[in-house]
Amino acid sequence: MDIQPFLIGGEWVQGTGSAFDSTNPANGKLNKRVAGASAADVDQAVRNAHRAQRDPKWRNTLPHERARLLHRVADLIVERGDLLANVQMRENGKLFSECRTQAAAAAGAFRYFAGIVETMVSEVAPSRGPHVANVIYEPFGVVAAITPWNSPLTLEAQKVAAAIAAGNAVVLKPSEFTPGPALELGRIFLDAGFPPGILNVVTGLGGETGLALVQHPDVRMISFTGGTATGRAIGRIAAERLVPVALELGGKSPHIVFADADLDAAVDGVVSGIFTSSGQSCIAGSRLFVEREIYDDFLARVVERTRALKVGLPDVAGSQIAPLSSFVHRERVESYVKSAREDGGTILIGGKRPDAPELQAGAFYEPTIIAGLTNAAKACRDEIFGPVLCVLPFDGEDDLVEQANGTTFGLGCGIWTESYKKAWRVARAIESGTVWINTYKELSVAVPFGGFKDSGVGREKGYYGIRVYQEPKTILWGMK
Ligand code: NDP
Repeated sequence: MDIQPFLIGGEWVQGTGSAFDSTNPANGKLNKRVAGASAADVDQAVRNAHRAQRDPKWRNTLPHERARLLHRVADLIVERGDLLANVQMRENGKLFSECRTQAAAAAGAFRYFAGIVETMVSEVAPSRGPHVANVIYEPFGVVAAITPWNSPLTLEAQKVAAAIAAGNAVVLKPSEFTPGPALELGRIFLDAGFPPGILNVVTGLGGETGLALVQHPDVRMISFTGGTATGRAIGRIAAERLVPVALELGGKSPHIVFADADLDAAVDGVVSGIFTSSGQSCIAGSRLFVEREIYDDFLARVVERTRALKVGLPDVAGSQIAPLSSFVHRERVESYVKSAREDGGTILIGGKRPDAPELQAGAFYEPTIIAGLTNAAKACRDEIFGPVLCVLPFDGEDDLVEQANGTTFGLGCGIWTESYKKAWRVARAIESGTVWINTYKELSVAVPFGGFKDSGVGREKGYYGIRVYQEPKTILWGMK
């Protein structure tokens, strides 16, 4: 079987690391074998990126020329949308429809940062003496971008688009479970006419390829999305090396329903907030807090709506719950449900693999709702990253805020109420990077995204999202 090569300096190479398997979680079949990048390969990738970034051909590219190239990438993503969606679906098992939407969002990220780089201005600071002071923004040089498996199409686009718009070169290390979308993006960059070496893609395992990348002396900035433990480890290395990091990490987001909410809309928001992507979303609303006076009725409605969800193959129309991204990950999710049972939780629905014969070969797991736990239970504390919703009652705003903030995470929060004053008070009190009011999981490249507490450091996206990938430089002109 051919081994899928990776991309260094515009060349497709087999590398010298250990090759690994990419498996389709919907049916357990091998997609392909993928070449692994060793530390020596990573060194080559970073050297190529460094050279390409310093080359005057790239350094002197004017912002509108850079924008034109980024728009060309967006065009090619749109043209190849079906292909990209298929590649991602076969690797992480996401519904084809969702993968297609993510391909469109990836193109949107390139267009957004193309617009920003072409229009964003530098500053002239107020003078405090006989000088003129300019503040301009320089790229770091080589940026390491490391991504997880749950939404590579969008997560990789938003890092690569912003970092390259900012003038850097990038070495991208995708998850071992989803090497394909990054490799396709590399191909698109070459076809779009970017100089070779501006985007390099190294595939391989985190502990080998990823580690070599974050340790490389010529990597001047690290942009990481993934689990909190990995983010912490990378943050330690970055601290030692004194390079900046942006860390987008895990979540355990509270989804809050007050008695005065539009309950029809809230049921929809709660169910899609946890179960889309089979719960494998950093912003999954995985802890549901319901005001006690409506707790039983509302919960019954959420369970009923969940029962109607169709677990099915990701490429079959009508499927709503696709498999988990890998068999190993399903075992992890199952161990959390087991712990919830041991902690006295009641499984209201799910809590097992589905029975349908056509799903037996895949890593499927039924949408699961658990009641009767306290906020201190393991299933309520840890990020499960699967289709598991823990439900807790609350009595009044003070109790709610204490429980909702009673987590190490702070990524997302949903609030359902018809009272705008209450919504505002609670939104301000919750420690979270994003708060949705009477909606959930709406995302936009135009607003900053990131987490409080253990959910991360720094923000991506939004108008200033490009600045994450630049350093300010002050230039003073004597005027005496
Ligand atoms: P991991 O932290 O396990 O891995 C993320 C990436 O880091 C992968 O490419 C991985 O490679 C790599 N990696 C692992 N160890 C190292 C290391 N020592 N040095 C450098 N790189 C390393 O996360 P998952 O892939 O399991 O993704 C799920 C996590 O991502 C969840 O916690 C989720 O919340 C979080 N996430 C956060 C988002 C946000 O924006 N806040 C968005 C989406 C997901 P390999 O795959 O080979 O292990």
